[in-house]
Amino acid sequence: MSGDGVVVVGGGQAGFQTCASLRQEGYAGRIRLVCDELHAPYQRPPLSKGFLTGKTSGDALPLRAESFYAENAIEIVNDAAAFIHRQACVVELKSGACAAYDHLVLCVGARNRTLQVQNAEAAGIVYIRTLEDAVRAARLLAIAQRAVVIGAGFIGLEFAAIACDSGLDVSVLELSDRPMKRAISQLMSDAFTRYHLSRGVKFRFGHGIAAFESVDGQVSAVVTTTGERLLADMVVVSIGVVPNVDLAAHAGLVTGNGIEVDRFLVTSDPNISAIGDCALFPHPNTNKMIRLESVQNATDQARLVAARISGTPAPYNSVPWFWTEQGAYKLQMAGTIDQCDQFVASGDPCSASFSVFCFRNGQLACVESLNRPADHIAARRVLSADRNLPTMADTAASGFSLKTWNNGNDTRAA
Ligand SMILES: Cc1cc2nc3c(=O)[nH]c(=O)nc-3n(C[C@H](O)[C@H](O)[C@H](O)COP(=O)(O)OP(=O)(O)OC[C@H]3O[C@@H](n4cnc5c(N)ncnc54)[C@H](O)[C@@H]3O)c2cc1C
Repeated sequence: MSGDGVVVVGGGQAGFQTCASLRQEGYAGRIRLVCDELHAPYQRPPLSKGFLTGKTSGDALPLRAESFYAENAIEIVNDAAAFIHRQACVVELKSGACAAYDHLVLCVGARNRTLQVQNAEAAGIVYIRTLEDAVRAARLLAIAQRAVVIGAGFIGLEFAAIACDSGLDVSVLELSDRPMKRAISQLMSDAFTRYHLSRGVKFRFGHGIAAFESVDGQVSAVVTTTGERLLADMVVVSIGVVPNVDLAAHAGLVTGNGIEVDRFLVTSDPNISAIGDCALFPHPNTNKMIRLESVQNATDQARLVAARISGTPAPYNSVPWFWTEQGAYKLQMAGTIDQCDQFVASGDPCSASFSVFCFRNGQLACVESLNRPADHIAARRVLSADRNLPTMADTAASGFSLKTWNNGNDTRAA
């Protein structure tokens, strides 16, 4: 230990939580948080939800008041990390300044995947990742009449639901055959498709985008790969993200679809950790390398790294959970559907409140709960035990309830 302390690169959810948890763990060394955005760390989830409607004000976005950082001796460095000199344990910043570290935590997140088609730069075409993006989207939403959403993922559909509520004519283009396909079961996708259709959203599944048309630099239409032309005065592109690996890769760290880390979230350099959206880590149950984009993942990984730096190392095995709000439909997921091959509805899948039990190797691995918060809470408890997970036969038995399922070591269950 040289006394240089911890340098955290990236002032998002994971970066903020790392600094806050270090202090909670009693870490007494120097902490610097390198932020390349104009704002102190803020929440992204409201950007595609309440912030667009005005229900969540800009004042409610910061993760902590500015005073928190001074009170906890967390130095905010408004700069960008440009290069990591690993031998010297120094981060070189864009301004030319340098920050030496005992331990470096990379929380550099991800950036939007962009469309490279004709007129992609036209006014009226937006992405939603940063506060500035969301401000732009909210302004357009207030004056637009026809919106086209490219990509039926979580963020695209959250926007579509809001645009519908605002009275816009909304079309959604999606390359695959159903919404949110990478992350949720067919049963749940179908429920969301029916819901959005019932509110007037027009889906074009199996359609890509060939070009945008524009008039005087303003987007006027979207041309699909099947030749269809959809009029639009606003377009939201939501086709996923690319993890920010360049900083790590240039420093010679092992990277792929993320910065590779081990079960303790340490990169190929023992003095450097990577967490949050940018980290590619081994799934505790399947051992497959995965990357998750969620507040839970960023927060829990940050807590784990802060505890390790403070002297209490542990492998990462939190149950992933996530939520999305689309109009009156709130979906909460515990676990991941990765490698699940059996899916069973609990409740009526044609209603607005049911859950889907998803099984991997015959054991419950993920629960998707639509407007059923109690199922979600129970699922997180059940899945967090690493033994006696319910099988399909268990869940089919009369009287089965997630709430009362006992993994064998939990006194809260009946
Ligand atoms: C619109 C939207 C809605 C979402 N909704 C939900 C939701 O409902 N539920 C949920 O669980 N999750 C949601 N998410 C995902 C969640 O917000 C992310 O998973 C979480 O923010 C990840 O935190 P992070 O710190 O890893 O990355 P980020 O929050 O993206 O932070 C990374 C930070 O690093 C900075 N950075 C990058 N490179 C450098 C560098 N070289 N130097 C300095 N700084 C750098 C970036 O500018 C950024 O500020 C949503 C995300 C978005 C964009």
